[in-house]
Amino acid sequence: MTSLIWILLQFLTRAKKQFNEKYEKNPKCDVSLDEDFDVKRTLGSGSFGRVVLAEYKKSKKKKVYAVKIMEKAKVMKQKQLDHTMNEKRILASISFPFIVKQAFAFKDNTYIYIALEFVSGGEMFHHLRNAGRFGEMRTRFYASQVLLAFEYMHYLDLIHRDLKPENLLIDHKGYLKVTDFGFCKKIKGRAWTFCGTPEYLAPEIILSKGYGKAVDWWSFGILMFEMASGQPPFQAEKHIKMYDMIVSGKVEYPKHFSAELKDLLENLIQVDVTKRYGALRNGVQDIKNHKFFAPVDYIATYQKRLEAPFVPETKGVGDDSNFEKQDEEAMKTSETCKFEEEFKDF
Ligand code: AMP
Repeated sequence: MTSLIWILLQFLTRAKKQFNEKYEKNPKCDVSLDEDFDVKRTLGSGSFGRVVLAEYKKSKKKKVYAVKIMEKAKVMKQKQLDHTMNEKRILASISFPFIVKQAFAFKDNTYIYIALEFVSGGEMFHHLRNAGRFGEMRTRFYASQVLLAFEYMHYLDLIHRDLKPENLLIDHKGYLKVTDFGFCKKIKGRAWTFCGTPEYLAPEIILSKGYGKAVDWWSFGILMFEMASGQPPFQAEKHIKMYDMIVSGKVEYPKHFSAELKDLLENLIQVDVTKRYGALRNGVQDIKNHKFFAPVDYIATYQKRLEAPFVPETKGVGDDSNFEKQDEEAMKTSETCKFEEEFKDF
């Protein structure tokens, strides 16, 4: 075994131990939105709630957070209780440079809240649409960070299940943070839930086959395709048509893709899981050692020592100018505690 792989294994083993200890503890925070935060504006909305920019009032130095607000009644109605509990518990236990950090998780009578570090550069989605598409160097820079984040998560037995440009935020240095752990799960063996985003769903999810971590490598391939071309490979107005295209696995690669990129994507956007890179005997090494990633120094990437190809303009702590204006929504207040038993461990 080369010494670099040995160092990596030591790092991952330690990370897994730390994660599992925190995950088992599942600590609670004594924080409240009204008393501890000054809410500024809505930054974005997800499938099950919205995210607001809020200043933490109890700190001398200005500190801002992105607070995800989910209404308990809605979570229950949309059958997302397990997913939300997973999200909070996993985010509280995870620690990696390219994964968003959770500062607090708390609740009141009506809502549950997850306060995350505020990532000021905005969504990759927004920057990708502005640019049309990214060059292969920029695609490689971002992909190498997602690759390291997934290597870390998979070693911890976590699958993300919702990779897409909307869930990748760009920090003030131009590096990525994976966000939205709403579908993330600690798995032993297979998962069966149909979840994710249609364009990014792996064929085995669509075919209700029971699936594993390989679904993240499929969506990683879709993400790389979308970054380098501006569009995901499978698109149709009707989901059913799109699912047929995904299951068929026929991809038209743009002529401008380099031979290295095309070769890697053919091995990631691979319908046959027994042939998909990331899920073979060598695991993630098949991807890390692929010639498309040959120029990458993974240690320098992990340590954020490389100059980013694009650095978002930000004017100090709490600058929200990289986030588009959103409709604001009034908060509800309930006199009685809703779903107290269901959310007791939140
Ligand atoms: P989510 O529900 O987690 O998908 O978040 C919805 C949207 O809120 C994201 O697409 C971002 O626009 C924004 N957002 C989420 N987390 C953060 C964060 N930590 N910093 C800044 N914006 C965020």
